[in-house]
Amino acid sequence: MADFCGRPNSLRKRPYLRKISNFKSGTMNFTITKAEQSRISEINFENLEFGRIFSDHMLEMACRDGKWSKPEIKPYAPITFEPSMQALHYGQAIFEGMKAYYVDDNTINLFRPKDHHKRLNNSAKRLCMPEIEEEPFVRGLEELLKLDHKWVPRTHGHALYIRPFMFAAEEYLAAKVSKEYRFMIITSPVAAYYSEGFNPVKLTTSDKYVRAVKGGTGEAKAAGNYGGSFLPAQNAQKNGYTQVIWLDAIEHEYIEEVGTMNIFFLIGDTLVTPQLGGSVLPGITRRSLIAIAKEWGLNVEERRVSISELFEAHKSGMLKEVFGSGTAAVISPVGLIHHKGENITLNQNEIGPFAKKMFDTITGIQYGKIGDSHNWTHPVTVG
Ligand SMILES: *Cc1c(COP(=O)(O)O)cnc(C)c1O
Repeated sequence: MADFCGRPNSLRKRPYLRKISNFKSGTMNFTITKAEQSRISEINFENLEFGRIFSDHMLEMACRDGKWSKPEIKPYAPITFEPSMQALHYGQAIFEGMKAYYVDDNTINLFRPKDHHKRLNNSAKRLCMPEIEEEPFVRGLEELLKLDHKWVPRTHGHALYIRPFMFAAEEYLAAKVSKEYRFMIITSPVAAYYSEGFNPVKLTTSDKYVRAVKGGTGEAKAAGNYGGSFLPAQNAQKNGYTQVIWLDAIEHEYIEEVGTMNIFFLIGDTLVTPQLGGSVLPGITRRSLIAIAKEWGLNVEERRVSISELFEAHKSGMLKEVFGSGTAAVISPVGLIHHKGENITLNQNEIGPFAKKMFDTITGIQYGKIGDSHNWTHPVTVG
């Protein structure tokens, strides 16, 4: 007897495979296996290192030939694969990053989960991976939060970081689109990114490397984009900078992103951010900041911004603030930009008043302290 991949059954004795064999597509029943004992008492919530600690439960769904199994929620645990698992060799791996915020003992807020779901599917399409329906994603998050709501830190600014991800799971050493996938969600309690006050970052351009190119995978949240950005980031750090400010791949002139964040410039009274267009990741924080700025009556421009325009705006005194945006830090003020031997310094190494007001507004909405006129928050009743 051989299994569906044509290999002997003796290779397929691991426990997770038994679960795949009761495939039923289309049913949205969740199988929930609770952890026998919570690990939460071992966790020091006063000293959380980003991404090191994981809550009691995780969600897993398997896909074979385009059909997803029903979602399973079970204790967080290692997963087992053969060394030939395709994601390891050919990089079909994508992810999302979002957060859940403590509102009160009965309410946890997710922020724009349906937008994260859409973006995951856009990334999936680019990498030839199967899309997933909204229900296992959004309800999966709700079910996980109901089980693990005690893992959502209570301190304002702290949150439960949520990492949904998908990877090619077929055990087949051929450079081909995988026929099997896993989708998983794991969660991790995290402290505020700037828990000891904002620490403006120092940026440098790279004259050699680029993050993404139009037509490539830059607008997908693909694991490989990160792998490729580590060397230039490491070089920047060796030279005393925090991160790279990425320029376009063709002219090395137009600003795209900063590190793993989108980037904003306050030039005069106009909020400017690089336009999307293939090589820029469409950040959900970015989109939220644009909406808030418009609501405040600001002129917002999504357009090409060259590094020379930035230096000129600085010379003429028009460049007021620069900051990055992303789920992890929310807003990351920029204190210095280096490009070809010249420096721009901003706001005496403090967060600018505009970035601060933006930060207070968006986090106020996330923690349910400010009215949410956009319907961005998705409250989950727990406890
Ligand atoms: C995830 C990510 C962002 C920020 O997106 P958010 O949805 O705001 O968290 C920006 N740039 C890159 C390269 C990213 O991977």
